Amino acid sequence: MSDQQREAVRRTWDGVVATARRTAADGLVVGTSGNVSARAGDIVLVTPSGVPYDRLRPEDAVGVDLEGRQVLGDLAPTSELPLHLAVYADTGAAAVVHTHAVHATAVSTLVPEVPLVHYAAAMLGGPVRTAAYARYGTRELAENMLTALRDRTGCLLQNHGTVTYGNSLDEAYDRTAQLEWLCRLWLTASSVPGLRPSLLSGAQLREVQDALETYGQPG
Ligand code: 13P
Ligand code: ZN
Repeated sequence: MSDQQREAVRRTWDGVVATARRTAADGLVVGTSGNVSARAGDIVLVTPSGVPYDRLRPEDAVGVDLEGRQVLGDLAPTSELPLHLAVYADTGAAAVVHTHAVHATAVSTLVPEVPLVHYAAAMLGGPVRTAAYARYGTRELAENMLTALRDRTGCLLQNHGTVTYGNSLDEAYDRTAQLEWLCRLWLTASSVPGLRPSLLSGAQLREVQDALETYGQPG
């Protein structure tokens, strides 16, 4: 490994650990639930399986190649490695975040698609789908997730949690936070007895997707 690659791996690992700690601090996971990964070239840095995030040190870095062969570290990689690698194989993602965020997980037990209560769905590419249930850590779960992710940057995993990806750890994390907020909003609005939330149409959402292309500061 060149000095430059070593430095990229070190920086990416720091980012993976910081993001994993943020999921715990922000209440999106409890204990060692969830996992985070990011690419440094052809090396994928991943959280190790079952290790509390506050214990992770720089020397604990875990890296695999895009086929899942461990190329860095002694700790066993996350049990959801098939899920993370499936996202990298199928998209141009630089980072993947998986959580058990409580409102999103609640919604995953109720509906095959998050109802369009808010235009925030546009930030995830459209109405967010729920991937069919399969046991954690399986290739079947990874396959079901890819089906739900088509043309989206996030999905729910039925009776399990969330997956989002992005061009950076911050982007993947922010999409998880938006998805959790959206699910919380739908649960709140749909739990008023005798009333049902109004929903946006597909056309209204597409209008938002167009507008979002120039959202924020120019440049
Ligand atoms: P790991 O500790 O192996 O990453 O598993 C946590 C999890 O959320 C499995 O779905
Ligand atoms: Zn999980």
